[in-house]
Amino acid sequence: MPGFAALEMFSRPGRHRRGLYFSDGIPVSDIDERRTGDLLIRIDRDLCVGFGDCIEAAAAAFELDDEGIAVFREGIDGVDRETLLAACDECPVDAISVLDADGTQLVP
Ligand code: SF4
Repeated sequence: MPGFAALEMFSRPGRHRRGLYFSDGIPVSDIDERRTGDLLIRIDRDLCVGFGDCIEAAAAAFELDDEGIAVFREGIDGVDRETLLAACDECPVDAISVLDADGTQLVP
């Protein structure tokens, strides 16, 4: 049984999901994380149900991958802070969390 020393960050072959996996490919978590400005944004892709509310609110910041789960877009750095916070707060299942530079949780 693999230990935590065997954890690796990589994209699974043939899939686009990102996160932490044991070396045998078993997912440990599926968290996507991005820093932009003073914000640290995390998408818990296991919680995301793909309704797209975040995308509707900030289409330059988020999109659905080929599995219908939210991922970051490269344009996220061009989205203003208030729009980003509002978009993250739209998530109906609290799959997106946001911390500021002090580690204070702003969303949800
Ligand atoms: S709003 Fe939440 S559930 Fe909907 S696509 Fe975005 S992260 Fe997923």
